[in-house]
Amino acid sequence: MALVTLEEILRSTRKEKYAVGSFNAANHSMAEAILSVSEELGLPVILGLAEVQFRYVDLERFVPYLRQRIEGMATPVALHLDHGLSLETVYRGLDLGFSSVMIDASSFPYEENVALTRQVVRRARSYGASVEAELGQVGGGEGNLEQGTEADAAGYTDPSQARDFVENTGIDALAVSIGTVHGPFKGKPRLDLERLAEIRSLVEVPLVLHGGSGLSEDDFRRAVACGISKINVFTETSLGAAGALRELLAKGTPLGYPDLTTAAEKRIRDIVRGQLRVFGTPALKSV
Ligand SMILES: [Zn+2]
Repeated sequence: MALVTLEEILRSTRKEKYAVGSFNAANHSMAEAILSVSEELGLPVILGLAEVQFRYVDLERFVPYLRQRIEGMATPVALHLDHGLSLETVYRGLDLGFSSVMIDASSFPYEENVALTRQVVRRARSYGASVEAELGQVGGGEGNLEQGTEADAAGYTDPSQARDFVENTGIDALAVSIGTVHGPFKGKPRLDLERLAEIRSLVEVPLVLHGGSGLSEDDFRRAVACGISKINVFTETSLGAAGALRELLAKGTPLGYPDLTTAAEKRIRDIVRGQLRVFGTPALKSV
């Protein structure tokens, strides 16, 4: 148990039709809030950190701390590098001890995406780590909290290309573009579930949904029913915690800094609990 790979933590998701939440932790406080829910409920989680969030932490200290924290837990947790944008970043992540890495070469032409992803898979195997890659374009930016983005169907994942991509790269999980965006959504999201089901029928590995902001509980449930195995969450916990602080400060009562972090962590825990319930994540007997 404790620290596991992405491949291990997602292994039963397709057969048993549930998803595991991947919650990004951009600092210690977020990480503790997320991991404490995993312990409290006895449920698996994926703890993520995206390259654009490296600026919030001292990575060389933070990742070993997370590894040690997770190794002491009874529930399975994958420690995942989210949206590594270069080989250099992903290789650094493997050296630091992430049990899973994402290489996001989705903005490159198809052949380059395949070539870069293959290199990462080869390297990750020697660490016993899993690899996620992305095909198609999920709009918006990681860490983009201000403006909403609209989904652009031109960037949606092509099902037959997805099959080719998975076969040619050997990845463990595939992030697909089916109508979500990173950061707040502008307008109302409409998931292309037919496309998702077609990809699911053609591709052997677990599928990942990035950019769940603005989706209803029913949207998530339908996405899971149509084959999503991993759901990335950051905007909701990040904005949720910030909202909790604003509400508290608006009351005007005297507060110390620990009162604020406690309130922020409580809000994150509430959101994580709610998401795990919606994703249908069960306790894992073994991985
Ligand atoms: Zn993402």
